[in-house]
Amino acid sequence: MEERNNKPIVNLISKPDNMLKTVYTACRTCYSADYPINIYESTDDEEKMLKLIKRVIGSGHYSTIEHIQVSFAISNVSRACTHQLVRHRHMSFSQKSQRYVKEKGQFDYIIPPTIEKDEQLKAKFESFMEQISNTYQEFVDAGIPAEDARFVLPNAAASSLVTSLNLRELIHLANLRLCTRAQYEIRTMVKAMCDVLTKEEPWLKEYLVPKCERLGFCDEDKSCGRKITKEELFSKAGV
Ligand SMILES: Cc1cc2nc3c(=O)[nH]c(=O)nc-3n(C[C@H](O)[C@H](O)[C@H](O)COP(=O)(O)OP(=O)(O)OC[C@H]3O[C@@H](n4cnc5c(N)ncnc54)[C@H](O)[C@@H]3O)c2cc1C
Repeated sequence: MEERNNKPIVNLISKPDNMLKTVYTACRTCYSADYPINIYESTDDEEKMLKLIKRVIGSGHYSTIEHIQVSFAISNVSRACTHQLVRHRHMSFSQKSQRYVKEKGQFDYIIPPTIEKDEQLKAKFESFMEQISNTYQEFVDAGIPAEDARFVLPNAAASSLVTSLNLRELIHLANLRLCTRAQYEIRTMVKAMCDVLTKEEPWLKEYLVPKCERLGFCDEDKSCGRKITKEELFSKAGV
């Protein structure tokens, strides 16, 4: 069987050119008597813009980052992963349909690294995928519509989607899904989304972080130890 690449394929397909200026204009407009268009057309330097943005976001004034919309093309991720992603209610999704797109031959699937690293378990996994594929084909050949035949397809089945979201939601997504408590595949995928965006917009790096970086402490039940826990912090402060 051909070697599979289990990594999500993530591309940034759309973002505004003037992201920093747009967020700055939104922030500055709140505290200025000037027209927003004059702020937008001003020649304020990047350092000044970043300082204000940090202060405004830091104080929770999040409407200012809702003006930026970005879109990603994502493939080679499992249905288990996309099922978690679609729980985020401020994102838009267009996902490859298992009703309209019939699987032809062996369907693509994702093998978790924990299984992949064990030759025996990997072989068992692959043989099971083959069995599922054969059963799926049997149903399709018997005239069962793809929308019903797909009931036998597993969580491992690979999927593709286009997703769009605003910057506020992306920061929230990163805060939750870059946390080591998040499942490995969605963590890898969200990391790739952040990486492709920060390559073009490096100023966003400090916001696209796990929530403990933003909070300064960990609020999870089971901490990975990267930051002090909430309980430790409170007891230190005598709360
Ligand atoms: C580590 C981890 C483990 C998880 N485990 C489970 C699990 O076992 N079972 C399970 O079912 N889910 C699980 N989830 C999913 C989780 O419960 C959320 O559904 C998911 O993370 C989306 O988060 P959200 O609601 O904050 O974000 P979004 O849907 O992206 O919404 C962003 C924010 O908008 C606001 N908002 C959105 N909709 C509403 C609303 N209707 N009312 C009020 N405010 C709203 C909230 O402030 C919310 O935080 C898990 C998530 C993580 C990160």
